[in-house]
This record gives sequence, C-alpha cells and structure tokens, in this order.
Amino acid sequence: MTSASERRPGWPAMYDGQRRVLRDLIVHGDRSRVELARRMDVSRASLSRITRELIDLGLVAEGAIQYSATRGRPSELVHVRAGAASFAGFKLTGTDLYAVVTDLSATVIAEYEEPLASTEPEAVADQIAAVAGRILDGVPLAAAIGVCLAGDVFERDGVQLVERSSFLGWSSTPLRDLVESRVDLPVTVSNDVVSLTAGHHWFGAGVGAETLVVYGLGAGIGAGVVVHDEVHTGAHGRSGHVGHSRVEGEGRPCALGHVDCIHSFVTMGSICFNAGVDDTEYDAVLARARAGEPTALAAFALAAEALGVVIADAVNTIDPEKVLITGEGVDMVGLAPERLRQGLRAELEQVDLDSVVIELPGFSFSDYARGAAVSAMRELI
Ligand SMILES: [Zn+2]
Repeated sequence: MTSASERRPGWPAMYDGQRRVLRDLIVHGDRSRVELARRMDVSRASLSRITRELIDLGLVAEGAIQYSATRGRPSELVHVRAGAASFAGFKLTGTDLYAVVTDLSATVIAEYEEPLASTEPEAVADQIAAVAGRILDGVPLAAAIGVCLAGDVFERDGVQLVERSSFLGWSSTPLRDLVESRVDLPVTVSNDVVSLTAGHHWFGAGVGAETLVVYGLGAGIGAGVVVHDEVHTGAHGRSGHVGHSRVEGEGRPCALGHVDCIHSFVTMGSICFNAGVDDTEYDAVLARARAGEPTALAAFALAAEALGVVIADAVNTIDPEKVLITGEGVDMVGLAPERLRQGLRAELEQVDLDSVVIELPGFSFSDYARGAAVSAMRELI
C-alpha cells in the first residue's frame, strides 16, 4: 500500500463545465471552439477559458485547422490527448481475472489474464490490487480502476454491494470498498453487461444514441439500458434481467425449472442442449447449423425467435433509438434472421418492425474489461 505522501499525481479535480467539454470531446471527437460553445450553450469567452484550463491540465490540445466553406475564418480544432491518462479495467469470471489498460479513447494499450487464486472476496481484492499495481506501473496518469462481473451491483446504506454473483458465490459483497482500501485510486464496480453497455455508448456502435439497449449473449443473457444519455442500473441494480419471460416451445430447463423461458432457448448452453449435445459442443453445433443440418438449425431458430421476443419487450417498454446485440453467443441472429423477425413481430405493440434498429457491433472478450475501464472513466468525467 502507498501512503498519502507517496501518492502519484492523480486525476485532477474538475468542475462541471470542464467535465462536460471533456466528455463531449471524448465521445464525439474533435470540435472547433465555435461548435463546442454552441453545444455546451456557453459563451465563446467561457468556452475559451474552459479549453485553456483543460489544455493546462494536459488533457486536451489544439491541432488541425478546420476550413469551412460557409465561414470566412478557419477555426482550430480542439481534441483530447488520448494518451494523457490511463485506466485499468477488470472482468471477473468464476475462475479467472481479465484485465486491460486503456487510454482516454478507450483504446486497449495492454491486456492481461490469470486464474483467480481464490474466490474469497478479500483474496480477489488482493489479486485485483496486485495486478492493477503491475499493469499501471509507469503508465501516464493512472486515473481509476473499473471492475465488472456477473451479478447485481447497488448501494445500500452508503455501501456498494455485489449481490447474486452466482459464478463467484457472492452475496452482499462490498467489492468496491475491499479494492479501494488496497489501492490509491478510485474504484468503480459494475455488472458486466452494464460495463459492455457503457463501453458501446461512449466508444462504440451506441455513440450518439441517448436511448439504447444492449444485449450480452453467451452463457446467459443480460441487458444494459441507456436512458437520457446515462447508463441505467435500476433501484436495486437489477435492471436488465430479461431471461425468464415465457415463450412458446419447450427447451432446456432453466435454473428456475422453466422449460419455456428465454434461458431455455437463447443461451449457448441451451442451444447445445436443444441440438442434443453437451454444453461444451457449441462450436460443433454452430458448424452443423452452418452446414444446414436441421436439428442444429432448429436450435438456433428457437434461440432467434426467443431473442426477438425479448427485444420486442424492450422496444415496447423503452423505445430505444437502437438495439445492439453482442457477446460470444450472437450467431442465431445471422443463422435465423426471419425467426428473429417472427419473435419481434409477435410482440411489438404498434411499432413498425422495420423501424427497430438492430446492430451487431462485433465482440471480443476484452470488451468486458474495456467496458469496466470506461465505467471507471465515466465516474470521473
Ligand atoms: Zn426461466
């Protein structure tokens, strides 16, 4: 542990106006001062002061000149100095720790993984602190640490707790406090699909969408929601539990004993089960489906239809600008697009099917840890 006197220079304290300008530049890229002043609804003088302060902090710089056909005077563009600060992001599974270091543009600078030595919360906090110390050693301005995991994350009586993290066997675990007491940086802990959502909203396919729904598909299904440009986690951290709605058909029994819920069809394990094979055979089932084998194709078709139903519920409830589907288990979308539409069509209420914007932004497992780093960044900015 580092004593206060040995503290490295950390993320600077900023006031709201500075944070808003920085956030706009981080999310939307280079802007001219004129454009920034208009977007922030502040005077040119105020904007110049804020820009100057951010330049003094080393976080932004002025660079390229923008020539406009309609305005006489060329204006200098303000941009973020992406390399000025660094963030560590972690994803915990039941067995392993995955970590990345990102810069201010959420570009992954370094990746790291190791098995968890123990799943005891204190031991996991020790391990996160040790890895953070190593991967942030020598980086420019280590600003914050983000951690994500499956489970509900919320605050009770001023203490942030992780509930129902089934892979780790945790409940009422104050992970943020445990990690924060071992490092000299701010720590953010989030649900893993919430972190994926945070990453896509600021740096991915969700940029510009003030209302957004993101599905993470894999061993389970989770949803992340953005409303009013903020990631929504709910009153108890439970937002995005979408797996147990009942649909037509019969598939794999879920943890609650349903044979006809979303989990029975849409998870990778259910697709395997419904194609008549073991959980570990997903790649083989996928290959069979791609070769046109009817049993495998049927399992993916059921998954696609169930996903359509889930998406329709979100569209009816939240009315998002865009829906993103990501994770290891998105293959049903491409294999059975018509069944996805069928599921949507069955549930959409007075919504034109073609008005639902669905995108598949692609996926790498490091997106979780990167999203955790972005969640940490969002807390500061
Ligand atoms: Zn169920």
